[in-house]
Amino acid sequence: MCNKNHKTSEESIQEMGDAHIMTSIATPLRPDAFDISDDEKIKQIQGHFEKIMHTLGLDLTDDSLKGTPKRVAKLYVNDLFKGLNEKNKPSMSTFENKYQYSEMLVEKDITLYSNCEHHFLPIVGKAHVAYIPTDKVIGLSKINRIVDYFSRRPQVQERLALQILNELKNVLDTEDVAVYIDAEHMCVSSRGASDQSSSTVTVEYSGKFREEQTRNEFIAYFNNKLK
Ligand code: ZN
Repeated sequence: MCNKNHKTSEESIQEMGDAHIMTSIATPLRPDAFDISDDEKIKQIQGHFEKIMHTLGLDLTDDSLKGTPKRVAKLYVNDLFKGLNEKNKPSMSTFENKYQYSEMLVEKDITLYSNCEHHFLPIVGKAHVAYIPTDKVIGLSKINRIVDYFSRRPQVQERLALQILNELKNVLDTEDVAVYIDAEHMCVSSRGASDQSSSTVTVEYSGKFREEQTRNEFIAYFNNKLK
């Protein structure tokens, strides 16, 4: 029996966005994404944003408003979404694990600023990242930078966690990586959802972190303040 629902594809896409469901781990980019320069992108976005403001009825000759389109365009290209471009990826040099350190390394309370790809509104929170080294180790500040890099894209929280996890698995040549993200989505809080302080937790465990004991040890590193 056919019981498929009768939503149009547009309705389905709308619902997918509202539920913050992602379609793939890789950020969906077009092959020609970087054919034009950053300066050209800023120029084009400035023009588009001018139109948005104009359509909203704003007077762009007002001194307070006239600089906004360019300001927004620069913010998009140079800051908020610069992680779309691989050229801005931090170098991830590793060191030989000379001391054969084999305990869990945890970088906790990494401040995270991203933007949701469904509403282009901020996602703000904390990331906690851990790995168990094999032959390679990495400076902990590099973990902050990789979190920052993948955050600077239009994102879905699950994808952000997975992109960080996969990058670290590759760089460190290990399966034993964990990424825990606890963040607030402005698209939820600003639209009058009943609980203004609600946050979303996304966790990605791989390798030994799938074992309960290892997982609990990791969570204890940043969760003790809640006890
Ligand atoms: Zn959203």
